[in-house]
Amino acid sequence: MSEVKTVPGVFTRRDPLNTAHPVVFDSPHSGDQYPADFEFDVPLEMLRMTEDAHVDELYGAAPEHGATLLHAHFPRALIDLNRHPLDLDAELLDAPWPDALQPSRKSEVGMGLIRRVAKDGVPMYRRPLSVAEVRQRIEQYYNPYHDELSSIIEGMHQRFGVVWHINCHSMRSALGRNPRPPTWKPNFIVSNRDGDTSDEPFLKFIGDFFRARGHTVLVNRPFKGGEIVRRHGDPGNNRHSVQIEINRKIYMDEVTLEKHEGFPVLQEQLNQLICEICDYATRAL
Ligand SMILES: [Zn+2]
Repeated sequence: MSEVKTVPGVFTRRDPLNTAHPVVFDSPHSGDQYPADFEFDVPLEMLRMTEDAHVDELYGAAPEHGATLLHAHFPRALIDLNRHPLDLDAELLDAPWPDALQPSRKSEVGMGLIRRVAKDGVPMYRRPLSVAEVRQRIEQYYNPYHDELSSIIEGMHQRFGVVWHINCHSMRSALGRNPRPPTWKPNFIVSNRDGDTSDEPFLKFIGDFFRARGHTVLVNRPFKGGEIVRRHGDPGNNRHSVQIEINRKIYMDEVTLEKHEGFPVLQEQLNQLICEICDYATRAL
């Protein structure tokens, strides 16, 4: 039983190549297919630095180990799957949004559902966006991805009664402009929104895996986990979602996005992680 489902420009889902485990990895920010009608007003190279480049490839062996892998084709700069659909900045729009918006701190700094800035002080667009074009991004890109992830998680939960979901990201090595503690970036940040999206043993299992390989790891800080784990994790009902952030400096050049010698080393460790999570799932069933 092996299946690949692709919606061109939107996502690819790869199902297990052998015995299926209730384990799913999703990579929402590694997409690099910029649609022809995406009219941004900054250099493409600047926008590309917002991609979690190569993360889909880092976890690419998931189906060989019996896990499912979902990854987006479109870039996070187009629409951010890891934001609430109402986390939208009214300033971006040429007319009021039909529903009451819920802009978070992310929207305030220009990095909500639709980015206002490519990076600090660099506006993405030279004109306001229409409600229709933002709605089109939600309907054509955002909803299909979340629907597919829901359907994977729902299917596993129905079949096994439990599901383990890993939401896969990478992060800049530099600290952001908010110098709140900690004042350093570890190799990995694992998070479950302070216990809301997975049980503690699963989160600890993943943190310990990286620590045992000599990596620095922080738990639930400075990132607690975003919209994807919030939406899909429900530990009280045996749906465990953990977000993993990998420091980009350990596998690529953050400016050119070229993989460096650390890439194969990290990829091999992640192969082991996938394998161990599938074993963890088997033991827990
Ligand atoms: Zn990300």
